[in-house]
Amino acid sequence: MIEVRNVIKYYGNVTALDDVSFTVNEGEIVGFLGPNGAGKSTMMNIITGYLSSTSGDVSVCGIDVLEYPDEAKKRIGFLPEQPPLYREMTVLEYLNFVYDLKKCTLDRKAHIAEILSVTKTADVKDRLIGNLSKGYRQRVGITEALVGNPPVMIFDEPTVGLDPKQIIEIRNLIRNLGKNHTVILSTHILTEVQSVCDRILIINEGRLIADEKTADISRAVGSNRTYSVKVSGPRRDVLRELRALPGVKGAEDTGDGDSDGAVFAVEADRGVDVRRPMFNMLASKGWPIMELTPRGMSLEEVFVMITDEDEKRRASRGVKKTGGDGKR
Ligand code: ADP
Ligand code: MG
Repeated sequence: MIEVRNVIKYYGNVTALDDVSFTVNEGEIVGFLGPNGAGKSTMMNIITGYLSSTSGDVSVCGIDVLEYPDEAKKRIGFLPEQPPLYREMTVLEYLNFVYDLKKCTLDRKAHIAEILSVTKTADVKDRLIGNLSKGYRQRVGITEALVGNPPVMIFDEPTVGLDPKQIIEIRNLIRNLGKNHTVILSTHILTEVQSVCDRILIINEGRLIADEKTADISRAVGSNRTYSVKVSGPRRDVLRELRALPGVKGAEDTGDGDSDGAVFAVEADRGVDVRRPMFNMLASKGWPIMELTPRGMSLEEVFVMITDEDEKRRASRGVKKTGGDGKR
């Protein structure tokens, strides 16, 4: 459905994309995950034909984007990072304008009514775009992307700047669109791809460092649990006993705490649920747990883990890290 082969993009001497290749199959919802500046927007703008690559090929539905940009664009609905909405138009005027711009041939009234209903924007169709909340403006941007009913939808950071309720609504909407579209969305939020996507492409500094099923990444992340635990007991003794507990890979005194107790960061061995043994040990010492919170993994920790695993895999196959000496 979408083929990206060896795409390189330079902005002057900045390498925004460094030999990126991947495929997205029909019906998939794929998340493009990476920190700010990783190259997500650059990749999306290249797939949608709004930006040309320095080298490499991109095709959408078998159509080469560089060679036939107009044909490719007809098959893609795109929500850019900053959707170009005309503030002084009503939603309906705007959608009619986009309908003409895209030279859409579907029945105008029925089609626009349908996409308004899909994105739940029918109730604001006569309002000026400039007067809508950010959440509704984002919905209108998605409605615009749906004009012409393209099979591929591309959303660049669709939930940035929204409040938590709006974020949930937009994620639900994207999940629903995923039932009959191929979707790529970008985000710098790990939980966002976990909750919406079938597959995750992780990009860092212009390089694709992982291409995995979401379930596999979630398992890897979940199996390397860290907890924040507040214990009422003597700091040094608690730390020593936590470190000695089987199943604990490491424990640190965070220095935080209050009259209730001291806060420790505890990392469990992979695949071990350390909560029960920790509870039993602390209870036997008469040091009650006042709080226990899974810390999860930050995006940075996931990057470190994945790059580490990638290097180990390469090392075990005898592949040397390019530019390195193979040692770690
Ligand atoms: P992301 O969307 O993941 O935050 P971008 O694709 O916007 O990342 O940017 C990737 C890299 O390219 C960054 O280092 C950014 O500063 C640089 N970059 C993006 N657009 C331009 C541009 N028009 N001119 C020069 N550098 C750019
Ligand atoms: Mg971006």
